Amino acid sequence: MTIARNVEEIRKRIVNACERAGRNPEGVQILAATKTRTPEEIKEAFEAGIRLFGENRVQEARDKIPVLKELPAEWHMIGHLQTNKVKYAVKLFDVIETVDRQKLVDELEKRLSQLGKVMRVFIEVKLSPEETKHGCSPEEVEPLARYILGKEHLKLEGLMTVPPYLDDPEDVRPYFKKLREIRDRLQDSLGVPLPQLSMGMSHDFEVAIEEGATIVRIGTAIFGERRY
Ligand SMILES: *Cc1c(COP(=O)(O)O)cnc(C)c1O
Repeated sequence: MTIARNVEEIRKRIVNACERAGRNPEGVQILAATKTRTPEEIKEAFEAGIRLFGENRVQEARDKIPVLKELPAEWHMIGHLQTNKVKYAVKLFDVIETVDRQKLVDELEKRLSQLGKVMRVFIEVKLSPEETKHGCSPEEVEPLARYILGKEHLKLEGLMTVPPYLDDPEDVRPYFKKLREIRDRLQDSLGVPLPQLSMGMSHDFEVAIEEGATIVRIGTAIFGERRY
């Protein structure tokens, strides 16, 4: 019940953020970030209407997603993807949001062509210099995007970012704005639509929506604090 109530509350906040930004709320999807959550909790979120789910680690996804395969849900990889885990990831996920280097693109293309599957992908962009964050630099985005466009089994749909955690969500706004600007420029120079902007988490998703997010990745605000 709590999960359903939380989702309802988030929906209201999304509608309000969209009103402020003059956007249609249908242009914003909630992705439930399910690291550490049980299949039961995930089912509850599904019952509350969530259709996108995201896992950070291939091993955890291998334990969880097959158990939930009866749910008509869409699974996104939202954590750093190691090349040696790609062979599992291509079978588990519908979208890889964290493509950030050519070597990963090569491995994805190789495994996907063996499967005869086309994967929707986003490029993860690193906008802050923190060592711990993955993603390619803003300068690397265009060459990587061109590289992906040359692959038969990858479909580039947009960009994703994990900005630094800052207490005041307003301080995160410049990062969200930057990602949108990179996307706009990229669309112009490549001449292909890149509709998806995956940005915003529990404590800053409203600001992300005001700056153009189409997918907000929310864990704590749906499921409560994580227990590791
Ligand atoms: C955990 C996680 C989220 C959700 O974080 P919350 O603060 O719990 O909403 C979003 N994106 C990524 C990449 C995550 O790892």
